[in-house]
Parts: sequence; C-alpha cells; structure tokens
Amino acid sequence: MNFKASDVVMKFKGLTALDGVSLDVAKGEIVGLIGPNGSGKTTLLNVTSGVYSPTSGSFSMGAESWSSISLRDAARRGIRRTFQNIRLFNSLTVLETVEVASAWLGTGDRRENALNALDELHFTQHRDRIATELAYGMQRRLEIARAIAGRLEFLLLDEPTAGLNHGESEEIVTIVQAIRRRRGCGIVIIDHDLNVIMNVCDRVVVLSEGKVIASGPPQEVRRDPQVIKAYLGS
Ligand code: ADP
Repeated sequence: MNFKASDVVMKFKGLTALDGVSLDVAKGEIVGLIGPNGSGKTTLLNVTSGVYSPTSGSFSMGAESWSSISLRDAARRGIRRTFQNIRLFNSLTVLETVEVASAWLGTGDRRENALNALDELHFTQHRDRIATELAYGMQRRLEIARAIAGRLEFLLLDEPTAGLNHGESEEIVTIVQAIRRRRGCGIVIIDHDLNVIMNVCDRVVVLSEGKVIASGPPQEVRRDPQVIKAYLGS
C-alpha cells in the first residue's frame, strides 16, 4: 500500500523538530532519509510509527487515514520499524525474541510468523541461541527479523548499518532488497553511510532543520547544491 505523510509538524516544547514535512512512499519503493544530526529524521520515524503523536499533520496508507496512532495500532496496520539502538531482552532465544514481537502484534500465528521472518534473514540455524549472546552484526539482523515478522506494509529502518563493517553493511543492503522483493512493502531507511543509501534507494529525501530540502534519485540529490551545503559539505 502507498504511504503518505502530509504537512507533519512536531514540536518539543520550544523546539520544532518537524516543520511541515510531507512524504510519499509507494508500495515497493525504497526511500533513503538523510540530513545532518538533529534535522528530524528519527522524529519522522517516531511520529510515523506511533512513538509520538505529532503536533499537527496527517497520515494515510491505502484507504485509511489518521492524525495520530499508537505504536501497536501502527504495527497492526503493517507499519513496522527498527530502532537506532538495539533493544533485546536478556535470556530469550532468537526464536523467542521474534515470537514475542509477533505475539505483541496479536495477529496471525506467532510461531509461523517468527519462523518465516528468521528464514527470510537466513537465521534459522541460529534460532535456539540466546539473542544477547550473538555477535553485534547478527543482533542487527535479528532486529530486522523482529520488525518483519507478521504483517508488513511499510518498513522503517533507523540506521540499520550503524557499527557494522563494510561486509556486514553490504549484507544489510542485500537483505533490504530481498525484503522489498518478497514482501512488496515500501521502505524508509535512515543511514549515515551514503554508500548504503546510494546503493539501495530508489529515491532520497533530504531533511534539514525539520524541512524537506530535496527529494529525487540518489545521483541527482547528491549533486544538489543545497544538499551539498546543508549535508555533504558539513
Ligand atoms: P536526527 O534523527 O535527524 O538526528 P532527531 O529527529 O533525533 O534528528 O531530532 C530532531 C530534533 O528534535 C533535535 O533537535 C532533537 O534534540 C529534538 N528531539 C528529538 N526527540 C526529542 C524529545 N523526545 N524531546 C525533546 N527534543 C527532542
């Protein structure tokens, strides 16, 4: 389903983190979200996934529209996300970790959803290992497995390659492309690694001080003088 955010404003006390942001993501499209630190990227993911209620603005996906939504209702509609910092529960196995997420969603068969997600990330042989004992790169992949278990219409990835080496980052790129191919969902990816963004995205949206300052194919955006000034040159 196509996703649309319209004129979203998010104020934290005196600070305007999002200042009228609109974003369209088509079914099957991968959009990269870049911009300097503090430009509002994570806040946009937070209001989209129901972590925060925006000050104003609206969202729609398919035939449904809303101005504010809970994290769980967003997830039930298939708006799923990963977080910048990995959040794993102590002592749960890999399979249990994904199952808990799937149970929280409360739709479909949680075991089946979890097993399918692990299979998609080539994680099946690690299903009985303790999640927190996995190497860091594998924990990053597990985060993605957890986000795709069950209904998935729109996937939001907040710095999925943070802390990964080159080979591991390439693996994430391959995984993201495979998810798009298999699930046909829209994907938004925030990443500091411009090579990842350039490799995987159909379109790049640039935020600066809570506003979209550019949007277009990666190669075009990379040459935009406003973008170079606000971001690449900084
Ligand atoms: P980015 O992801 O682009 O680095 P953020 O969305 O994290 O930017 O932050 C945008 C601005 O909003 C920053 O100035 C940040 O300090 C502020 N901000 C984000 N979340 C909160 C919050 N929960 N409370 C107060 N200010 C916040």
